[in-house]
Amino acid sequence: MNIDQARHDAVAATSDWSANRLSNAQAGTSTKKPVDEFFGHDSFNHQTMRQRLPKDVYRRLMQTIEYGEPLDLDVADVVASAMKDWAIENGATHYTHWFQPLTGQTAEKHDALISPDGKGGMVYELSGSALVQGEPDASSFPSGGLRATFEARGYTAWDPTSPAFLMRGENSVTLCIPTVFVSWTGEALDKKTPLLRSMDALSKHAQRILHIFGTDANVRRVHTTVGAEQEFFLVDRNLFFARPDLLSCDRTLFGAKPPKGQQLADHYFGSIPARVLAYMTEVERELYRIGVPLKTRHNEVAPGQFEIAPVFENSNVAVDHQMVLMESLQRIAPRYGLQAILHEKPFDGVNGSGKHNNWSMCTDTGVNLLDPKDETHTNMQFLVFICAVIRAVDRHADLLRAAIASASNDHRLGANEAPPAIISIFLGDMLTDIIEQLEQGVPKRTLKAKRLDLGALSLPNIPRDAGDRNRTSPFAFTGNKFEFRAVGSSATAAWPNTIMNTIVAESLDEIANELEKTVGSKATPAKLQSAVKALLKKIVKEHKRVIFNGDGYSEEWQKEAEKRGLPNLHDSVDAYPAFRAKKATNLFHKYNVLTKAELDGRTFIFLDKYAMQIQIEAEQMVLMARQMILPAALEQQSRLAEALASTESVGGECGQIRRQFDLFAELTNRFMAQIEALDEAESKRPPEEVDPYKRAKYARDNLIPNMKTLRELADDLEVRIASDIWPLPTYRELLFIK
Ligand code: ADP
Ligand code: MG
Repeated sequence: MNIDQARHDAVAATSDWSANRLSNAQAGTSTKKPVDEFFGHDSFNHQTMRQRLPKDVYRRLMQTIEYGEPLDLDVADVVASAMKDWAIENGATHYTHWFQPLTGQTAEKHDALISPDGKGGMVYELSGSALVQGEPDASSFPSGGLRATFEARGYTAWDPTSPAFLMRGENSVTLCIPTVFVSWTGEALDKKTPLLRSMDALSKHAQRILHIFGTDANVRRVHTTVGAEQEFFLVDRNLFFARPDLLSCDRTLFGAKPPKGQQLADHYFGSIPARVLAYMTEVERELYRIGVPLKTRHNEVAPGQFEIAPVFENSNVAVDHQMVLMESLQRIAPRYGLQAILHEKPFDGVNGSGKHNNWSMCTDTGVNLLDPKDETHTNMQFLVFICAVIRAVDRHADLLRAAIASASNDHRLGANEAPPAIISIFLGDMLTDIIEQLEQGVPKRTLKAKRLDLGALSLPNIPRDAGDRNRTSPFAFTGNKFEFRAVGSSATAAWPNTIMNTIVAESLDEIANELEKTVGSKATPAKLQSAVKALLKKIVKEHKRVIFNGDGYSEEWQKEAEKRGLPNLHDSVDAYPAFRAKKATNLFHKYNVLTKAELDGRTFIFLDKYAMQIQIEAEQMVLMARQMILPAALEQQSRLAEALASTESVGGECGQIRRQFDLFAELTNRFMAQIEALDEAESKRPPEEVDPYKRAKYARDNLIPNMKTLRELADDLEVRIASDIWPLPTYRELLFIK
């Protein structure tokens, strides 16, 4: 990689990008077409199914999609045939069972839609059984010990609740059938199965609450909804390839801070650079085609950082769309000479990236259960759902923390720019006031006292409060939904939402049990009201410690949280063991979300991945230090030595230059010693057979501190080495050349 060439090309690309870009006219998303002409065109969605399926088949499929009723193979045959016709009419030649293995990525294995007809020709074919079940060779996917290689078979099974879609490559169109991935004994080997199970659990118990309130008429299902805001960085691709650390670790392992970073706050919501806007537009148009309802785009806080966000959808569809979104961001960027970076912290000293996970519960009749309503009676129900979430989050803060843990998100959480590692809930003043009154007894007033309601029997009217913003809270109520902000930008949304759904399902289950017990079958409104009030009072008393509306970044909060007994799990190694605790295995088992073996398998993979990722970074650092930075430092040192010698030879004043030489040589020496220290720590790491917790702990305690020191020394060298010999694109170039 010639760095000067890379620099030159990167600068040229800022104005030449449109010449390089590949036309996407083939996909029909050219900017000349209005969006409504192609929105959802590449998705085998409800509309397409209604048009293409016989009435009875459509009706029976809907029973499966909406209420989880089993699907007969004869129905599947008809659906498969219609799906195949639709796909080939749109240019598809192949189909794939598309799934989300425990790697956190998506996986696909393509099969041709055509088969020989036995007479020298070809026929298009997709049978019901091929639609419903597949058997990829699963032996190379991680199972965390769930599956021995001799029983490597894994099955993919069609998830009809998420619409099939077409994936368009430069020369290919592939029909993607969303599936779950399970072992031959039925154990979940993917991220989707437990999510679907957790949605079932939540639906069941939320419906019991609705039944108690008598608001369940026509409700057959309660869905969880998710809207995930995706933050990411863009760097010029020429520069990207000149940084081995970005290439192999998705983050910079070295790099001195530039004089101008994000101090001036001039990037946030600034005008989007032309190349970036053209790129984002193409991403949006491709995603519109498969029905991803993207809504917003803007510059984020850090230079080179952007955000794109869809309108919320049913969780499992939102999670699938979120995976396609991340894949599209990365796939399309090179067409504009850009590289999309989803890592949580690609650059030190500027903001990291998150994935704000907006979450709520909604009936299939369209009622958002976290949306306060005007009638008092419904508000009581609203408060029950709010309190259920409060109880769940307080009781299982450790699981929520573990749900978002990863080596990459560790760089972000707890730093002074991202949600702290302490899980607390921001409710806003108005709702907090009502919660406090609940604790006292009957709430008598709302804080924004426009509407006072003193009725002895009633709870207050709650004005909607959408304006409240507290960016420092990891978990905030924002008017009609909760926003879980600590989720990492590179993470799949499936796992944190699985945890959310499960812990809230438990909470709703317990509330339903208690209310059913106290009000019995003949619930008069008065009896119900007093039972609810008594119960909420108890919940608030017990769990209000998790509510915090102040500055989550402050040091006082760390102390205060400790006083309140809230867990503060600094990093992944501290957080993951929550999944090994009895409390967790019981919870997941009770709600049929994960067996102990399934949960243990996941914990194994998380810890293993953590250890592995840090090892890779350590090795990459040693390499870059030896192959790139040290040679530059020695070159600089000889330049200084030569300058010193030649100055001395003519009898010039050498005091300053000698001092510079000595300082620099001393720094280089320390740098060399630290390379060896890191290399040695790396070579002493426990072998693969050792429990991954021990390996992860070793990486955290022995590799990370050595990496940190090495980086500090390198960054100090960077600012002292002549720019013509510094071998890496600098932060200034990476962040600002757009
Ligand atoms: P912001 O939080 O930046 O003010 P919005 O309130 O418009 O932005 O919404 C942010 C995200 O929350 C969007 O992705 C939106 O679709 C999602 N969202 C809104 N309502 C819900 C809901 N009921 N359930 C889940 N997500 C929701
Ligand atoms: Mg945001």
